[in-house]
Amino acid sequence: MANPLASMIDPKSLPPSLWADTVEEAPAAPPLENDMSCDLAVVGAGFTGLSAALHAARDGASVIVLEASEPGWGASGRNGGEVLPGLKLLPDEICDLMGKDVGEKLVAFAEGGPDLVFELIERYAIKCEATRSGWLRPAHTQGAEDGLKENLRQLVERGHAAEWLEAPDAAVQLGTDTWHGAILDHRGGTVQPFGYARGLCRAALEEGVRVCGNSPVSEVKRAGDAWQVTAPGGQVKAGKVLLATNAYTGFHCPGLNDRLARSIMPVTSFIVATEPLSDNLQKTILPQGQCFSDSRRFLLYGRKDAGGRLLLGGRGLMREPKRPEDFGHIEKALRQAYPMLADVKISHRWSGRLAVTPDYLPHVHEPEPGLLMALGYTGRGVALATALGGAMGTYAATGDRSHLPLPVTPITTIPFHGARALYAGALFTWYRALDALSN
Ligand SMILES: Cc1cc2nc3c(=O)[nH]c(=O)nc-3n(C[C@H](O)[C@H](O)[C@H](O)COP(=O)(O)OP(=O)(O)OC[C@H]3O[C@@H](n4cnc5c(N)ncnc54)[C@H](O)[C@@H]3O)c2cc1C
Repeated sequence: MANPLASMIDPKSLPPSLWADTVEEAPAAPPLENDMSCDLAVVGAGFTGLSAALHAARDGASVIVLEASEPGWGASGRNGGEVLPGLKLLPDEICDLMGKDVGEKLVAFAEGGPDLVFELIERYAIKCEATRSGWLRPAHTQGAEDGLKENLRQLVERGHAAEWLEAPDAAVQLGTDTWHGAILDHRGGTVQPFGYARGLCRAALEEGVRVCGNSPVSEVKRAGDAWQVTAPGGQVKAGKVLLATNAYTGFHCPGLNDRLARSIMPVTSFIVATEPLSDNLQKTILPQGQCFSDSRRFLLYGRKDAGGRLLLGGRGLMREPKRPEDFGHIEKALRQAYPMLADVKISHRWSGRLAVTPDYLPHVHEPEPGLLMALGYTGRGVALATALGGAMGTYAATGDRSHLPLPVTPITTIPFHGARALYAGALFTWYRALDALSN
């Protein structure tokens, strides 16, 4: 069966972005050219797939990664590069949902994600402009402060390094008084995400992983007691397969069909970057180099890069952007938040797809023994996909499920998934109303 992603993933076209313009050279990842065999085949070379491959190799498995385009092509090479601890839901909400023991295990795992990211960066000397200056979470209205303060209480109760900044202090750190009070979580940081993805790829190669770029997988099927993964250059026979395609999932797998793709809501997020700011503006805006994401349901997130540009990201449209005007709402938000940037030019505009799950939690599936999947980071994937990918790699290599931070669940598809554009439109209107009301 033809790969339905063929029209979406053009191996020759790396999507334009600030990160693509400022990234270190790519490691060699030649396409698959022969039939091969291994313990673990990984489909998709984003943070999930690369971290899984790296960890599985470290645990003794032979690993081949197959990537439709080049490593980091998906969300991993285009995101905001904010390395954030935790999950979208509050720790207590997760415990209510999953039970205390299971919930606390997942919470502790997700809170530790940034530690793993910065450890890997140090261990493999990954060049990705890494900084660990903290993460600001400003309230978009006075009323939204209550929810953030409750979130902070739950973090501090669990011993995490976070504090409350009253509005005047938050304004100094953000460089604007657009927002109200804020959490300052000292564990957060930033990376050049494409550089981090390429660095993870290099690290995986160093650990003996074979990474095949330009190798779109068209089929995954059972072959005796192994799995057969087909790409244009050949077939890989593997004891286990990990599907790490997240919001770019969409290939043929008999028995699975499109169920995995229909278990998540693909959401497009847009980012704009200014041209480098003057020294004065750089000293005023985010002077300590923190990143931020605010309390809106459709949140605004931002940071500076190593070149002194300000980046701002937020919700996209229900389609890929086609022209600069499609980013108008993000540029307007940028100039509203930072009126002193009224005349600053935008140098880059880009987008990518992330995967949102109905319960806002990541999901791990194994519908048949040895057919593994991990996805659904709901916009928190820099740290979380690295961590969950790592856990999946260790599980694949050892067969020990205790390494997984959450239960393996059946794939649950979202009803009327084909009408997701309608859903998302209605949800957006509803969320915008709630955001406006929370004052
Ligand atoms: C614009 C944007 C901003 C974001 N900002 C942040 C942020 O600041 N902080 C944060 O924590 N998270 C952020 N995220 C989320 C984060 O980027 C993702 O959660 C994370 O990168 C997911 O990684 P992944 O490896 O699971 O998926 P991806 O990086 O999307 O990788 C999937 C890969 O699978 C490949 N693939 C698909 N089909 C096939 C096939 N048939 N054969 C072979 N390969 C295939 C694709 O080419 C792709 O490279 C953002 C996301 C976006 C889009």
